[in-house]
Amino acid sequence: MEKLITDIINDKIRTSNGRTRYRSPLVGFASANDPLFARLREVANPDHLLPREMLPEAQTVIAFFLPFDNDVIKLNRKDPYVSREWAVAYVETNQLIKDICLELAQQLGKMGSRAAYEMPTHNFDSERLLSGWSHKHVAYVCGLGSFGHNTMLITAQGCAGRFGSLVTDKYIEPGTSPETLYHPFCEKCDYCVKACPISALSESRFDKATCYQYLLEVDKFFDDLPVSDACGKCANGPCAFKSPG
Ligand code: SF4
Ligand code: SF4
Repeated sequence: MEKLITDIINDKIRTSNGRTRYRSPLVGFASANDPLFARLREVANPDHLLPREMLPEAQTVIAFFLPFDNDVIKLNRKDPYVSREWAVAYVETNQLIKDICLELAQQLGKMGSRAAYEMPTHNFDSERLLSGWSHKHVAYVCGLGSFGHNTMLITAQGCAGRFGSLVTDKYIEPGTSPETLYHPFCEKCDYCVKACPISALSESRFDKATCYQYLLEVDKFFDDLPVSDACGKCANGPCAFKSPG
């Protein structure tokens, strides 16, 4: 099943109309009954949905990661502002994730299974800045990585990219259990703290509201693009391409 899903994702990447290029995607699975989903209410959002609130007969949660091509990362790292390529990658990948989820749901439908999913982004409460279904937290439960100091999930392919996820009533063998919650390399690295242009990220905390205000400014700057509230400067360090250390 993992190969089939990876093939579907790769096919959608190959046939997408966008300019953004990607490295090899990652896919992970978790049981819809995994108790870690309930724990997301403690660590992510007290109103975070459980898989069976998305789909009552849910058996499996599928998460995937689309890692940006190296050039997208290098151009954003070099640009004094947010690079246009990064903003475009954000916009195009959100569309690609929607297309992948739709395709996966249709393919599962052909096998007699149902699937449900949330949009790749902007599925959050704009006051509290909390998502009712956080793809990166779901990807953590599906064993795709551990959290970095930049609050992103660091996978084997790094953190520069985007996550999607869906819930299905098809049983798929769960993958490996999540790694440690926090990535150990972050204890000896401060790249992301130094890279944040507005000091929203410090040694001890992440000021989500300040970060989001900046992302809205970026969106205005790229006013010819669809919603591009993205920055990524804190995702361009040693954990951008791979799990460091
Ligand atoms: S830049 Fe360094 S400290 Fe920040 S998340 Fe990546 S590895 Fe961790
Ligand atoms: S996304 Fe940009 S503004 Fe937000 S914490 Fe990361 S570097 Fe700072």
